[in-house]
Amino acid sequence: MYDYLIVGAGLFGATCADILTKAGKKCLVIDKRNHIGGNVYTEKIEGINVHKYGAHIFHTNSKEVWDYLSDFITFNRFTNSPVANYKGELYSLPFNMYTFNKMWGVVTPDEARAKIEEQKKEITGGPKNLEEQAISLVGRDIYEKLIKGYTEKQWGRDCKDLPAFIIKRLPVRFTFDNNYFNALYQGIPVGGYTKLIENMLGDVEVRLNTDYLQNKKELDGLADKVIYTGPIDAYFGFSLGTLEYRSVRFENELLNSESFQGNAAVNYTDRETPWTRIIEHKWFEFGKDENGDDIPKTYISREYSSEWKKGDEPYYPVNDEKNSKLYLDYKELADKEDKVIFGGRLGEYKYYDMDQVVLKALEVAKALA
Ligand code: FAD
Ligand code: UDP
Repeated sequence: MYDYLIVGAGLFGATCADILTKAGKKCLVIDKRNHIGGNVYTEKIEGINVHKYGAHIFHTNSKEVWDYLSDFITFNRFTNSPVANYKGELYSLPFNMYTFNKMWGVVTPDEARAKIEEQKKEITGGPKNLEEQAISLVGRDIYEKLIKGYTEKQWGRDCKDLPAFIIKRLPVRFTFDNNYFNALYQGIPVGGYTKLIENMLGDVEVRLNTDYLQNKKELDGLADKVIYTGPIDAYFGFSLGTLEYRSVRFENELLNSESFQGNAAVNYTDRETPWTRIIEHKWFEFGKDENGDDIPKTYISREYSSEWKKGDEPYYPVNDEKNSKLYLDYKELADKEDKVIFGGRLGEYKYYDMDQVVLKALEVAKALA
């Protein structure tokens, strides 16, 4: 008999498994996939740690989370600086003085601010949606070239129908600084995320290819309590309706060349290019293999965003009004399940970054330990 059955071997599940095991609890971790790691899973191909479910750059302001994970792995000094490609014109991201200079020829921060002030005049009152929020932050020119097309491809919805908070994730700076994140700590686990999760799970028993919902009765019988990190609506058999997600499809290519685009991420911000971005995985580790040697080949992934349907991998929760309300109805049901704790990006239907998932899992697990 186990104290905890942990459904999902992603970051939430692995953090809970580690803390609870250290507190003397007996845990069993299961995952329906054939590997651990959830969406941070990396696989080594030709010496390159490939981010199989999309680019993952760890960044946080939480010293607690950084120190906790650093006990399991070393982070390298990677700083995310994606490039935007708009019909062949290249712009620096996030929005900063390099971007403003390329867009308008402005040279000083005051000139850039003046340009934005002039363009944001069209928005009166508080921004009511993503479009208005974006124009208020960076003006219409940048909205049209670097935001509108990318966002509508990414979310499959008009910018007027999307919540403002999505774009507020991105920094706007009046300095020459291409660091995509405002975080004290940032990096990629040396050796890949799978290694990190492997180290976190340590000797905890893991069963892969095991779907909880298909074997619920039998699996529930194995443990006193369950920590469930799968989709909350699936747990309840979609009885109140289906929560919407965005899914991502990857087209991968191994190329016999040393470099394809010279950067880890290039975003294609026009509406016509069908993919949202191209990831060149080797640059997360500076093009070197584990011995520090240059890798002669390269591996790229084109990302295509699509609406999720049953059977697809759910990637991004769509936290608009309709879905947020449905989630709260499911949450009410979840609160009545005495034996089950719901957690993580799918269990809580939240657009969590990795560090937020770990922080939340630490809080939950420490309270149970
Ligand atoms: P998951 O990793 O999804 O793990 C849940 C696990 O539960 C999965 O392995 C799944 O197979 C399993 N499961 C589900 N249902 C069942 C079932 N019925 N039975 C058994 N197992 C089940 N965050 C960042 O901080 N930086 C980034 O750069 C970043 N980039 C991202 C890029 C993409 C494309 C996406 C989609 C997300 C990105 N994130 C990023 C967010 C990050 O992936 C998540 O915050 C984190 O991985 C969530 O961990 P989790 O354990 O909650 O969920
Ligand atoms: N975004 C954009 N242009 C870009 C990059 C991002 O308009 O080149 C917008 C888009 O709406 C996206 C949001 O900013 O959903 C947040 O971007 P982020 O890179 O944080 O998204 P994620 O890492 O979750 O894919």
